[in-house]
Amino acid sequence: PYTGPSADEIMAKRKEFLSPSLFHFYKNPLNVVDGRMQYLFDENGRRYLDAFGGIATVCCGHCHPDVVESIVNHIKRLQHSTVLYLNHAISDFAEALAFKMPGNLKVVFFTNSGTEANELAMMIARLYTGCNDIISLRNAYHGNAAGTMGATAQSIWKFNVIQSGVHHALNPDPYRGVFGSDGEKYAKDVQDIIDFGTTGNVAGFISEAIQGVGGIVELAPGYLPAAYKSIKKAGGLCIADEVQAGFARTGSHFWGFEAQGVVPDIVTMAKGIGNGIPLGAVVTTPEIAEVLTRRSYFNTFGGNPVCTAAGLAVLKVIEKENLQENALVVGSYLKNRLIELKDKHEIIGDVRGRGLMLGVELVTDRQQKTPAKAETLHVMDQIKEMGVLIGKGGFYGNVFRITPPLCFTKEDADFLVDAMDYTMSKM
Ligand code: PMP
Repeated sequence: PYTGPSADEIMAKRKEFLSPSLFHFYKNPLNVVDGRMQYLFDENGRRYLDAFGGIATVCCGHCHPDVVESIVNHIKRLQHSTVLYLNHAISDFAEALAFKMPGNLKVVFFTNSGTEANELAMMIARLYTGCNDIISLRNAYHGNAAGTMGATAQSIWKFNVIQSGVHHALNPDPYRGVFGSDGEKYAKDVQDIIDFGTTGNVAGFISEAIQGVGGIVELAPGYLPAAYKSIKKAGGLCIADEVQAGFARTGSHFWGFEAQGVVPDIVTMAKGIGNGIPLGAVVTTPEIAEVLTRRSYFNTFGGNPVCTAAGLAVLKVIEKENLQENALVVGSYLKNRLIELKDKHEIIGDVRGRGLMLGVELVTDRQQKTPAKAETLHVMDQIKEMGVLIGKGGFYGNVFRITPPLCFTKEDADFLVDAMDYTMSKM
């Protein structure tokens, strides 16, 4: 049993010694002390079904034994910087990752986070093209350092950064966007930005295939092929941010962009790829990778032996436990159950997403699509009391984000939907 400090004691220390900008979920914040696959346990040993941890950290389940064993073995033997010396863990994971990529995407740069990966990807695009302009989508989240915060396009995540060179294109949002599900119409805005906002040449384009922080917005079909075409014509590189949608989560494909039938020039990833261990990566072609030989590129811990050992273990678990298939089967089942719930509860305006990356948008008026922000918080709090954890997102904070570890089962899906149904019925 847990004998550490209580939630109240931790909160008191946070208030005094930690950043005032830290936020937490729930009226009574949850003190999690143990994790086991799709479950988390609080200080009293109470079990919670974790339907959000997949995004935050875990891909194959909290404390998955294979991943833990790999990390422990490596850390007992050696932990060191990524650079300077040789170590097989780093090259083994790079090789395994390259095998998962389409086309000629086979050179890997490791980082510690998604922000670092996107910073690097944007820098590579600028070096390779000699241009500065980058196009990203409104409602996107790409990171919180100077360059990536410029690419991020939601006011809540932006400080006073100099956003030099980033233009934000119309978001191909099938639910709220003006062109509905017609991806090509939205892509015309990318061409307009190139024509009217740049010299006609750009460094590149960056987007997720399914926006995570933005509220599980799957880009309208046909959008990426058309946008990529305009970017390539303008000499730019196409960057796919797979920090949330990658690594088998969407079920139908290993990478989110594959559902749109495109092959990016650069792919970035992080979060789940280390199952909770800080790890990010940028994958590109040998030709593009060449630009980083112009200077020395150094990152002390990006892809160090312990983290890359975790990454390799994750890939093996996905393979061994058929987690992509599970994401497809359980995700489709869960989505269908959520769609049924929408028929029953007026407050659900939209159910969307793919595999185990699903969103449920709450509105007080289906016609006006008025965000039901308070209700979203209420349901989240209520189902937490029943033992189910989900996330929220979207610009208006009115979208449930359901992104569990990929070992989620149909029984888990039923429990989640039943808890939501019960709460909504009582509202
Ligand atoms: N890209 C996407 C799509 C993300 O969701 C995030 C994190 N929310 C990032 C990049 C940044 O990752 P990190 O927090 O690891 O820097």
